[in-house]
Amino acid sequence: MEKSKKHLVIAGGGFAGFWSAMSAARHALELGVRDHLTITLVNRDEYLGLRPRFYEADLTGTRLPLRNWLAPLGIELVIGEIASLIPASRRMEFVNGSRVVPDIIYDQLILATGSRQAYPDFAERGRVFDVDTFAKATTLDQHLRALATKGFPTPASRTFVVVGASFTGLEIVTALPSKLEGLAPSIPRFAFHLMERAPEIGQGYAPDARQYITKRLQHLSISVHTGQEPLRHENGQLILADNLRLLTDTVIVATGFTASPLAAAFGGPRDRLGRLAVDAFLRLPGHPEVLAAGDISLAKTDPDHYAVMSCQHAMPQGRVAGHNAVSLLFHKDPLPYAQPRYRTCLDLGPGDALVTAGWERPMKTIGPEAKAIKAEIINQWVTPPTDIADTLAMASPMATL
Ligand SMILES: Cc1cc2nc3c(=O)[nH]c(=O)nc-3n(C[C@H](O)[C@H](O)[C@H](O)COP(=O)(O)OP(=O)(O)OC[C@H]3O[C@@H](n4cnc5c(N)ncnc54)[C@H](O)[C@@H]3O)c2cc1C
Repeated sequence: MEKSKKHLVIAGGGFAGFWSAMSAARHALELGVRDHLTITLVNRDEYLGLRPRFYEADLTGTRLPLRNWLAPLGIELVIGEIASLIPASRRMEFVNGSRVVPDIIYDQLILATGSRQAYPDFAERGRVFDVDTFAKATTLDQHLRALATKGFPTPASRTFVVVGASFTGLEIVTALPSKLEGLAPSIPRFAFHLMERAPEIGQGYAPDARQYITKRLQHLSISVHTGQEPLRHENGQLILADNLRLLTDTVIVATGFTASPLAAAFGGPRDRLGRLAVDAFLRLPGHPEVLAAGDISLAKTDPDHYAVMSCQHAMPQGRVAGHNAVSLLFHKDPLPYAQPRYRTCLDLGPGDALVTAGWERPMKTIGPEAKAIKAEIINQWVTPPTDIADTLAMASPMATL
């Protein structure tokens, strides 16, 4: 790298990291400083993983080659596992298999390494599945296909348990019946169980939305167990309180996320999910050379609310972080991050979804109309345009989701 150039390093190539990179390139071009800036994006692999789609029955097209967008904009892609960050020397150490990769030194860092599945205690003892990453979603897919190849021979092979009845668990469990019917149309009966330790499913949803979800679960013949937390998972059995046992070959956990452990490299306040508190410009207090965006960042969307771990917040935060990183490197004023509008769209299986509007998550749209909104989110918002000029236009921090 030329010494005269400033170096912006983006750690993580998910939604926040990808849009940080696009926004930084856009703003550098806008300011006429692109030739004075090196932008490097570091990611575990060469893909933008569309995590919100990993519960889908068909995983085709759920990860996209980062190079398609980075290469035309002259953004360097470095593949490797970031092992540690050393704030005092603005250094990043990482590994790539047996290959020795030199440390990376940054002038400005955008921390966007996201979050990962938080596993409940029982999950460590046995073999459980989840859909946190493309690799894990693929492992689950292969497991289901292997069961189908054997013809789902035992009751355990026909019994499916999803643990966690919040957003992700609900999307997983309502996608399963049609997926399994597609794999084995002649199998007469599968059993689906949804387990939730809270007294109700759909925590965080308003009562009308919860009611709608409950009806949908009944319609799909999914047995709901609230106030239930598995104690152990061993020898193909899920052991519940009162010595109740479920014989099953498939336990899928959806018990929430925890922020990337790299957050620990920086002092300062973190919330119970491990997210780093940032200021209104997404800067880390005490570290003017670091911004944080996406699931690793605890940012306020408005005076009363914090962002949730979601791509709807990670993407705009990335756009603001990329813009601000370039502004800070070239002595311009940064922009504040704000996102007062809050909506969710929960997939509920074939032909159905639920859209909520507002922080209390009351029901707004349901059924095929909501399902069409889900398709629009997937195709037009979550998936970046293939055209670079369109992507740069969408990377503006003023663009709304
Ligand atoms: C099944 C599922 C369904 C979801 N549904 C929705 C939904 O409907 N709507 C919604 O808004 N959100 C949804 N989410 C949440 C959403 O996917 C996340 O909030 C979003 O991905 C966060 O973006 P991010 O860029 O912060 O992190 P990530 O998308 O997690 O990206 C982080 C990136 O950093 C990389 N990385 C991490 N650590 C390292 C390291 N040490 N070294 C190198 N690279 C590293 C990762 O490989 C990854 O590429 C869903 C999530 C899941 C799993």
